[in-house]
This record gives sequence, C-alpha cells and structure tokens, in this order.
Amino acid sequence: MARRSRLSPPPSPSSESEAMAISSDALPSPGGNVAILVAAGQGLRAGPGVLKQFRSVGGVPLLARTVRAFAASGEVVRAVLVVPDPKEARSRLSGWLPADLPVAYARGGATRQDSTAAGLEVAEAAEIVLVHDGVRPFVDVQLIRRVVGAAKEWGAAVPVVPVRETLKRLDARGAIVETVDRQAYALAQTPQGFRREILQKALEWARACGRVGTDEAEIVEQSGMPVARVEGMETNLKITTPSDFAMAERILGADSAAGALRVGIGYDVHALVPGRPLILGGLSIPHSTGPAGHSDGDLICHAAADAMLGAAGLPDIGQLFPDTHPAYRGASSLSLLEAVSRRVAQAGFGLVNLDLVLVAEAPRLVPHLSAMRINLARALACAPERIGIKGKRGEGLSFEGRNEGMAAHAVALLIRDGGTPQP
Ligand code: MG
Repeated sequence: MARRSRLSPPPSPSSESEAMAISSDALPSPGGNVAILVAAGQGLRAGPGVLKQFRSVGGVPLLARTVRAFAASGEVVRAVLVVPDPKEARSRLSGWLPADLPVAYARGGATRQDSTAAGLEVAEAAEIVLVHDGVRPFVDVQLIRRVVGAAKEWGAAVPVVPVRETLKRLDARGAIVETVDRQAYALAQTPQGFRREILQKALEWARACGRVGTDEAEIVEQSGMPVARVEGMETNLKITTPSDFAMAERILGADSAAGALRVGIGYDVHALVPGRPLILGGLSIPHSTGPAGHSDGDLICHAAADAMLGAAGLPDIGQLFPDTHPAYRGASSLSLLEAVSRRVAQAGFGLVNLDLVLVAEAPRLVPHLSAMRINLARALACAPERIGIKGKRGEGLSFEGRNEGMAAHAVALLIRDGGTPQP
C-alpha cells in the first residue's frame, strides 16, 4: 500500500502539458501497452510453502489469475512476468495462462526497482508500461483503462483509494501522538502507468543517485516528474498474508470454489470367513473371522482409495491394482492407499478431508478408531483431523447384520493444487 509514498495532486492541464512535452514529443511511441507484473518476492509474510504468487486462489495460481485479468481487459499486447526463477515460474504456470496474451519472463532483482527495471528491459517497444503487483488479481478493465488513459495524457498515473479509517500518527515506540487529517492522504495501488521513457529515465536517475522508492510512482515523483492520480478500486486487493488469501477466496465466492473442489465416493464389501486376519485401516484386530480377498481385505483402505481416485477422475483401485496380479496377493492395503495418495497428488489434487463409515456387526470398533485414523493420516500425509471414521452395526439386518460380511463407505473431498492444503 501507500506506506510513505508522496502522492501528487492531479496535475492541472496547463502545467502538465508543459512538463510532458519534453519527453513525449521527443520519443516515438510504438508498441501498444505492456503489463509488467512484478512477482519477484519471496513471500515471507504469507508463511511457508509454495511462494504466494504461485499459490492457488479459487483453484488458479495467483499470478496466472492476474495475467488473466490483463488478458481479459484487452488493453495490453503483452505481459512480462518478473519472478524469482523464470524456469520454475514457467512450469508452475504451465496450462494456467491465457492463450491470447503473449507472456515473457524476467528474473527479479534485489529490490522492487531492480525487478521493475528487469521487466522494463523485456518490455522493449511498449508505449505505456503498466507496472502491477503480481499478487493483485482483482484488477478490472475499468481501472486498467483509467490508468492507461491518464498515463497517455500525463505521462505517469497512479490509482489511489481514500483512507476510510481514522488515521493516527505514532511515535517510535508505537504510542499515539495525534489524529491526522485523513483527507490529506490516499492509499496508492497498482497498476501504475507510465510512458515507457519516463519510467526508464526515473529508474536510471534513481540508480545513479542511490534513491529507493516503495513504488514506481515514488521514483517518478522524486525524479521531478508529476504523477497523475486516478480513482483506484477498493476490491483491488494485494494478497500478502494468509488472511488476505482467505479474503480472496471469499471474494471469489462459491463459483470458483466449486471449480477447485472435487468430491468422490468409495464403497467396498468383503465376505467374512474364518481363519483370515481382520485388518482394518492398516490395524490388525483380533477376531474370529476376517475378510476374504486377494489382498489383506482392508476394506476401509479400499473404500478410501476409491473415493480419492473418483474425486480426482482417475481409474479405481480394481484397475490400478488388479486382483488378478500376483504382485498384489496379500498386499498391504495401507501401502496401496499411500500409492493412491501419491497418484492423486501427481494429478494435481490435495486432500481436504476423508470421511468413512464401516458397517459391521462385530467386533466393537470404538477402541480401534483412533489408531486406524492415525494409520490413514500417515498413509495420506495429512493431519488426523482431516479423517473421520465411525462404525455402524447392522442391527441384525442384511449381510452386515448377520455377520456374513462387512461394508465400508467413504467420501473424499479434494482441492485442486496450486497450493497444496496445509497438513
Ligand atoms: Mg476390497
């Protein structure tokens, strides 16, 4: 946000045209508008894991969502993505970027200015350069047009929003010194628009005299050029902290969540025969009968695996691990579930939660549920809190009630990756 940026008032047309005449008339202005999306940060405030610019928001990597917003505006001919590692960015964004907007990559520098300068080199022939935070995906076409229009007219333009809260000035220890007039302040957003040569000169000037600004507009201001302001957008959220991500999901609402979430159902049944071990959820339970079957007959694992595979749109366990194959004779179903979990992750999904019902007349399952849950959590590399298991008796009805067999029912909810859910 604005931090200590000094915002110029909207320039008056008479003084402005004089100032701009120097640079805009002197240089050609070919090439259309180019968006430089700065996403070179290491995202420390967003917590550990995937860098925030690649994390999923509404099922789409954040930076890809921002690129899509610019593509949809029709206002830019090219986007330059300034990232920590272009090779990694390419692979993380593969398949997510819009087909109708050419994208180039630049490697970010040590500071915001260095990163912008790296992007500007790649932007080459642009007329107007729009420098935008890669983690502001909600920018819309009206805002982009306002900035482009003002940048064309005045040479440099920044969107601002009013300060809505009461503003306090603090001393070095954080104590309130006074209430200041919020009318005298505004919060700066991006995209910030510049005639290419104006931004380039300002960056060269800043480098030469060692000046550092918190945004591009500040550098342009400091270099002595006026900066016009246009109306910003309250919803043009900069996604920086975990709570920003939560807010972004709320803004996107149920529609995009539906695209990212996938539910799957699994069911398994085994006949009970004497002399077979009873293994449920990877746990060996003393009992007079056990499930007949090619593997260890662990129907909890089988139902769980099918629910996850179904949600991910993958073939079921019968096809992945055929019971005619000698390799799976007596196989540990918990290991099969672990393999399924890896397949599901490779397909781009993380587990949100798994819920299971085992229908069995005997034995009593309650004492074993917690250990089963821990086994499943280990196999699925998630927290036990994401797994529910409960037992139901057959009440003397049907095959379960008559102790002829057991059945397991499972429901799994997956979320499309881009952002694996936290364990
Ligand atoms: Mg089975």
